Amino acid sequence: MENCIFCKIAAGEIPSATLYEDEDFRVILDLGPASKGHALILPKQHYANLYELPDELAEKVIRLAKKMVIAMTKALQCDGFNVVQNNGEAAGQTVFHFHMHLIPRYKDDHAGVTWTPGKLTDEVRDEVLAKVRACL
Ligand code: 5GP
Ligand code: ZN
Repeated sequence: MENCIFCKIAAGEIPSATLYEDEDFRVILDLGPASKGHALILPKQHYANLYELPDELAEKVIRLAKKMVIAMTKALQCDGFNVVQNNGEAAGQTVFHFHMHLIPRYKDDHAGVTWTPGKLTDEVRDEVLAKVRACL
């Protein structure tokens, strides 16, 4: 993909703080970190989002996330981790090359990876169950 910044970073054409690299992925530090150690897993091939990601890479990316979370927890002595992956502008995606956020969390860090809880009504529960089950 021309003009995709994450394609260029993943390919090593633009330098990045690389924590890990293999034939499929590069893991880099985010330039606008939510917390110390905030990293991004980038596939080397361009896929805009999770909808486009092939199953084989989807399986590999969660294995890599686990490996990174274990190593980073040990290295950074963080107290927890958020693994976040945004799809579409409405969901907060700003770079349209699939990436998975690995966000180390520290007690009282106020990193704010959160939402305001609503209330699941019976009506909405039944609607969502029926609609989603019909599409699986
Ligand atoms: P999104 O909002 O699309 O899920 O996340 C995009 C992330 O990429 C943001 O956290 C942002 O800070 C990070 N980012 C954007 N451009 C660059 C860049 O050129 N280099 C690095 N390392 N991170 C970037
Ligand atoms: Zn790309």
